[in-house]
Order: sequence, then structure tokens, then C-alpha cells
Amino acid sequence: MYKYKQVKDNAFVLSLDNHVEVAAAIAAFCAEKGILAGNIMGLGAVSEATFRFLDPSTLKYVDKTFTEQMEITNLTGNISQKDGKPYLHLHITASRRDYTCIGGHLLSAYINGACELYVEAFPGVEIGRYADPDTGINLYKF
Ligand code: FE
Repeated sequence: MYKYKQVKDNAFVLSLDNHVEVAAAIAAFCAEKGILAGNIMGLGAVSEATFRFLDPSTLKYVDKTFTEQMEITNLTGNISQKDGKPYLHLHITASRRDYTCIGGHLLSAYINGACELYVEAFPGVEIGRYADPDTGINLYKF
């Protein structure tokens, strides 16, 4: 699913295998390393991605899948816990063949080419989440 190299006491560089799903691969890596809190950044290329948009007027997520080759111009995310389970919050910006960008909250994306990530763990730290009824967002719980 991925190859990795530890680059600091608390940080890793990952190369995801071709055609894997990004969120699943990051979750598997966090489980392998016991990472309960941290940050993620990366780039790469995908052939399919599903984005979410939170509509503030309904507090509901609207999902849309794009099936085309795109460059991940930025993937930013964080790692926390919700209800005792790993919780990834990922956002993505991706560029199309015509060089315009689309993006959103990332639900899933399938690599087609490469995906290179930097994962920084916060050792000994656990950050939770709670469902905030006012925003519809699972906010950090400190
Ligand atoms: Fe989000």
C-alpha cells in the first residue's frame, strides 16, 4: 500500500503505491505507527477523487466524484480521534488537464501515478473530536 522512510523522531515520508486509495492508505499507516494525532501534507496524481462540500444552509455534505486524471497540487490534513477511532480530516486541491483547479474536503482519491506524503506525528498526544450541531462539523475537542 505504501513505502516509507522515517526522517525525524516524529516524522515520515511516504510513497503510496499506484492505484491505492489515499485516505485508506494514510489510515493504515497511522494504525501501523500508532499515530493518534498529527499533520499531513502531500502531492501526487489521481484518476478519480470524491470531494465534499459542506452546505452551511443545510449543514449537510454534498459529495461529487470526478473521474479524470488530475495532479494533486496540494493535500493538507490532520489526524485525530473520534469515538476512540482514528479520524482523518483531509482537504485537496487538484489541477485538471486544462490547468484549472478544483478541490474540497477529500473523501477518497485513487492514485494514478504517484503520491508523496509527509506525515508528522505528535507523540504522546491524543486530540479528540465532537459533532458540533451549530456548524455541522466534527470540531477538535481539547
Ligand atoms: Fe473539511
